[in-house]
Amino acid sequence: MKKKEEEKIACHVCRKLIPKATALHAEGQEYVLHFCNIECLDHWKKQQKREEA
Ligand SMILES: [Zn+2]
Repeated sequence: MKKKEEEKIACHVCRKLIPKATALHAEGQEYVLHFCNIECLDHWKKQQKREEA
């Protein structure tokens, strides 16, 4: 039996494999990105701002 919680995805920033159920995500216009923790999410957010500026 396969549980959904056991599905693993790679963090968008550090590429660490994490259970999908515990991943943080950010939604873009046409995509969803996954992050292992708040630090990676912040890192990505800062990068986005830098690119916009
Ligand atoms: Zn990460």
